[in-house]
Amino acid sequence: MTETIDTLVIGGGQAGVATSAHLAKHGVPHLVLERARIAERWRSERWDNLVANGPAWHDRFPEAEFQDIAPEAFAGKEAVAAYFEHFATSRHLPIRTGVEVTSLSRQGDAFRATTPDEVITARHVVVATGPFQKPVIPTVITDPAITQMHSNAYRNPGALPEGAVLVVGAGSSGAQIAEELVRAGRKVFLSVGPHDRPPRRYRGQDFVWWLGKLGKWDMKAPTPGTEHVTIAVSGAYGGHTMDFRRLAGLGVTLLGRAGAYHDGVLHFAEDLATNIANGDRNYLSVLDEADAYARAHGLDLPEDPEARTLLPLPGCVTAPQLALDLTREGVSTVIWATGFRLDFGWIDLPIFREDGRPRHQDGVTEVPGLYFVGLPWLSCRGSAFIWGAWKDAERLAGLIAADKGS
Ligand SMILES: Cc1cc2nc3c(=O)[nH]c(=O)nc-3n(C[C@H](O)[C@H](O)[C@H](O)COP(=O)(O)OP(=O)(O)OC[C@H]3O[C@@H](n4cnc5c(N)ncnc54)[C@H](O)[C@@H]3O)c2cc1C
Repeated sequence: MTETIDTLVIGGGQAGVATSAHLAKHGVPHLVLERARIAERWRSERWDNLVANGPAWHDRFPEAEFQDIAPEAFAGKEAVAAYFEHFATSRHLPIRTGVEVTSLSRQGDAFRATTPDEVITARHVVVATGPFQKPVIPTVITDPAITQMHSNAYRNPGALPEGAVLVVGAGSSGAQIAEELVRAGRKVFLSVGPHDRPPRRYRGQDFVWWLGKLGKWDMKAPTPGTEHVTIAVSGAYGGHTMDFRRLAGLGVTLLGRAGAYHDGVLHFAEDLATNIANGDRNYLSVLDEADAYARAHGLDLPEDPEARTLLPLPGCVTAPQLALDLTREGVSTVIWATGFRLDFGWIDLPIFREDGRPRHQDGVTEVPGLYFVGLPWLSCRGSAFIWGAWKDAERLAGLIAADKGS
């Protein structure tokens, strides 16, 4: 069976839904194909208690507020998925679920997308299959007695085998999972790499508000040298600053970057104190920039000197453990919160760099009619986030609409 449509959007997460909404506004005939359900990754690739990292007033599309969630509260992952589903259905967006695109190629002037049941040809294609596609799991631990999983497969403390847990990676996922586990009474080790850790709130405003004021969401590219620095924030438990000293106070043993594994022992780099110090520097720099902004713009915000008081460094940072004998420490589970990679193996077009990322300018590729949306740093820092994908989708839909008659 063959079907022809002007624009095909592949992926029905927030980026695909946003693209569809904007294409609909322009009257562009289009179809969204989603292999599972709308916002599937929010439903089945996040742990049970995950809440949005930003408050509900921020982590949403500009045109629709969350129902039944206070603007300052943090929506749970099911509420986020329901939000996108409701947004799509209430606008009658043409999203076909349960249909996977297994290949995409070009034939003459048209794209040819294959699904298990048909071939769809389209003049424009928007790929919206997600910024975080395939879990990255370093396969260093070979002991079959250790349960290993990626953070996208972690669900809750009760679903793990009894015993201590090593969480590798201290971005938002790793830090939040470590906190959830230690609060549930588990013995927890957390391997901490380079990270930013902005204050949750400062002078009465959430950090997402400050990042907006300071122009950081609109940054075009990561500051050189910070490409691999992850951001540790949390909306859990009402939202609080991700402070690794506080985590250590709860009982988490902090470790440096995980390295080699030999004979049941995992080794760690001697970089923990440096990583913590750089994280502190980042934290304090946000306070400084916020203060400077408030001064320059005459903002009447309450002073917050306590935000500058840091807890003493815990013993696990001042005298770090450089090796962990997993069996001796009773570690039954290792959770790799080590990020994701892209997987565009199903796209048969010569537009990919060696690292697997597509070549594009703000989502526009060199293949006429082919666009990407929702990727990290697509046009700016905000691009992989909910409202950032909305803005990129708006711009790309405008380009497609302008090309409609050509
Ligand atoms: C743990 C975690 C927490 C996050 N928290 C926040 C947050 O609080 N706030 C925020 O703004 N951002 C957050 N993000 C970042 C981002 O918002 C999410 O990753 C979001 O899911 C990205 O949406 P998307 O639509 O671009 O991609 P995805 O949600 O990944 O959607 C892509 C869709 O495409 C489908 N698909 C893939 N391949 C195909 C194919 N070949 N054919 C058909 N369909 C296909 C998938 O099933 C999926 O539904 C978080 C990310 C992670 C990993």
